[in-house]
Amino acid sequence: MSEDTARRPLIAGNWKMNTSLDSARSLVDGVASAAASHAAVDVIVFPPTAFLQSVATVAAGRIAVGAQNLHDQPKGAFTGEHAVSMLVDVGATYALCGHSERRHVFGESAEWVGDKVAAAQAGGLTPVLCVGETLAQREDGDTMKVVRAQLEAGCRHLDADGVGAIVIAYEPVWAIGTGRTASPAQAQQVHAAIRGWLTDRIGAAAAQRVRIQYGGSVKPANAAELLAQADIDGALVGGASLTVEAFSGILSAAASERAPSA
Ligand code: PEP
Repeated sequence: MSEDTARRPLIAGNWKMNTSLDSARSLVDGVASAAASHAAVDVIVFPPTAFLQSVATVAAGRIAVGAQNLHDQPKGAFTGEHAVSMLVDVGATYALCGHSERRHVFGESAEWVGDKVAAAQAGGLTPVLCVGETLAQREDGDTMKVVRAQLEAGCRHLDADGVGAIVIAYEPVWAIGTGRTASPAQAQQVHAAIRGWLTDRIGAAAAQRVRIQYGGSVKPANAAELLAQADIDGALVGGASLTVEAFSGILSAAASERAPSA
């Protein structure tokens, strides 16, 4: 991992549509306690929106809490949706934008993801822009073409300062929830290319400060070798974020890959 002190490891748990209110409260409490032993690692959990306020109350600032999705409009006739201000009101400080399930299951376009990124940032949430190719796109040799297009559209309303303030999560679609992980070398190759895209867009110094997470079947057993890669600055974790034991194994891997340097 880079020696740049701005790139503290960022480990996030995406709980998706899992947990009950009680189990969410106990999971966040366990995660926050585990995080206290790893002061060099930044931690976020993304609970179901229905539980966000309660989870944020239990987290009590010990770790960050984010929203899995948002609407780009500030209010109105959007049944079932949540505006950025509502998510901020209940304690969110981050928001996932363009998670692969939103793109592929709910049909979110790359442009709408860009609208959401801009709305999140304007409203005070740090967007985590998720990008990644399908297996067919990888096999056709289109990985970087797809990822670059998602980055362009995802950042289409942002100026250089705005791009420099987001988090990017590279999540190959074929590795999400499948148990199939990109090899460290495969992941690093795409992360380095994302850093290259950032360098073109906002300059080398700012690009070096942006955190790029890897996501796709990360677990305690494979986290260390992924997080050891030069341009992998953290992980976005689905399945393994649902138990304190597995998630804290990933926090330990992150902490031992990158001892605090400042
Ligand atoms: C995710 O949902 O972002 C994810 C990476 O899931 P999993 O870790 O289960 O592959």
